[in-house]
Amino acid sequence: MSDIEIAQQNEQSEIKPIQTIAAQIGLGQHDIEQYGEYKAKVKLAALDQRTLPQEHKLILVTSINPTPAGEGKSTVTIGLGDALNRLNKQTIIALREPSLGPVMGIKGGATGGGYAQVVPMEDINLHFTGDMHALTSANNTLAALIDNHIQQGNELHIDQRRITWKRALDINDRALRNVVIGLGGPFQGVPREDGFNITVASELMAILCLATSITDLKARIARIVIGDNDQKQPVTVADLKVQGAITMLLKDALKPNLVQTLEHTPTFIHGGPFANIAHGCNSILATTAALKLADYTVTEAGFGADLGAEKFLDIKVPQLGKHPDAVVLVATIRALKYNGGVALADLKTENVAALTAGFVNLKRHIKNMQQYGLPVTVSINHFVSDTAAEVTALQNLCAELNVQAIDTKVWANGGAGGIDLANAVLASMQTTVDYRPLYDNQASITDKVTTIVQKIYGGQAVEFSTKAKRQMQTFVANGWDKLPICMAKTQYSFSDDPKQLGAPTDFTITIREFVPDLGAGFLVALTGNVLTMPGLPKKPAALNMDVAADGTITGLF
Ligand code: ADP
Repeated sequence: MSDIEIAQQNEQSEIKPIQTIAAQIGLGQHDIEQYGEYKAKVKLAALDQRTLPQEHKLILVTSINPTPAGEGKSTVTIGLGDALNRLNKQTIIALREPSLGPVMGIKGGATGGGYAQVVPMEDINLHFTGDMHALTSANNTLAALIDNHIQQGNELHIDQRRITWKRALDINDRALRNVVIGLGGPFQGVPREDGFNITVASELMAILCLATSITDLKARIARIVIGDNDQKQPVTVADLKVQGAITMLLKDALKPNLVQTLEHTPTFIHGGPFANIAHGCNSILATTAALKLADYTVTEAGFGADLGAEKFLDIKVPQLGKHPDAVVLVATIRALKYNGGVALADLKTENVAALTAGFVNLKRHIKNMQQYGLPVTVSINHFVSDTAAEVTALQNLCAELNVQAIDTKVWANGGAGGIDLANAVLASMQTTVDYRPLYDNQASITDKVTTIVQKIYGGQAVEFSTKAKRQMQTFVANGWDKLPICMAKTQYSFSDDPKQLGAPTDFTITIREFVPDLGAGFLVALTGNVLTMPGLPKKPAALNMDVAADGTITGLF
């Protein structure tokens, strides 16, 4: 059965009204705003009134470098949440919101898979509670206000060749990466080069996910740099005096969305910044809500641990004010064999030697997470093609590092398939964590980038382009150099070359350019060619989708 068939079958018989789920975590009718029967936003006031319980544990789920073979982070996150609840550990899951780009493209949705899913999956993967639309509107309102400012006399002397704020759309549309706007004469505006980002790559998405209140959201939006003036000085949203209008458009999007798993575990799905150009985690407000309303919060960070978890720990944690108590590293036998050099077509054949060769990728991620002082448990996301010999071999390899690797069958069995994982994670949290951040924000930009490259990627050195060097000088002059670094790198490799699988060493990372995201509060360091507007593949997932006369959806994974 496909993910959507499993979800639909269970939804019809089992899904509970969202008030019931809210009540499970102590939220009354007046604390939520319903969006239909099965979705709700939680009012910020309801969260402000609540304090953190004595016992509140945060579990971060991350993975090895993604491969076309698939890892299943969301699936394991959901299954682990369900398993903890089965063990009577009151648990809430916090996940990212899907973007229509990957939904229509190739990767799929963001609601898990098999019997570890969040429902109603059709709604969540499509328009949900309108957050993406609000973000797109807010992003484009700012773009329109910038062009209008120039058209109406350009009091701020904005240099139209140096505007960095792009327009946005939440779909993979490569034709819009670079566009020329304002053509057609004086009434149509001032012509200039522009471009589109996918909405999840907009700085507004990162801001929404890091903001702690409407006031904080507005202050962050005011700080956004939209480009330079003709003196090459930064122009901000505050200069344009439109932070109020943009914040207004996001006031509802800021509230965390509450849904449920197939096993009725309360789940917040809120915010979904790209994990390459941005920090790749759900909102601070949703994670905080989960921490306040449950004893255990299970959350996920995008892509592999080199990107998602590093940014979770170095960007999100300081703002959240809480570090994880445990890390779960998801790996699949298939993906490790792929890292060990096996072709996609041969991944179903038993191959312990390739698995052993590919283990270097998982090993480096384990060591990386341990550097932060965090206990690590490996979850082997079980596929039907995995053999007993392969599972045992992987468990033995992990045991050599004193790490438990648990065969996890949540895709096939839901929470029941994650009980062993849940018990191992609970046991790993028995010892006190001596959390050690990777770097100090007071260090220089060069030092911070070099620390990430050497200590997380396993690289040798960093090269900065002439442009990047010039930018670093400007950032020091502007007082922006004490912000954390958000690396924009391929998710497929520890290096900046997507073809270097396993655990490459001796490589140099080149920083082409920086993007100062002052609203989000980090400096994006661009390596290689990172796309902020993806394209659709030759056979987009859209080809399989349909809707029947009664509104039933098919082919949405
Ligand atoms: P990630 O969060 O790592 O991107 P997901 O959890 O979203 O991955 O899973 C991606 C896809 O892989 C989903 O369609 C899901 O149904 C499928 N999948 C995940 N785990 C398994 C598994 N153990 N067996 C078969 N398919 C799986």
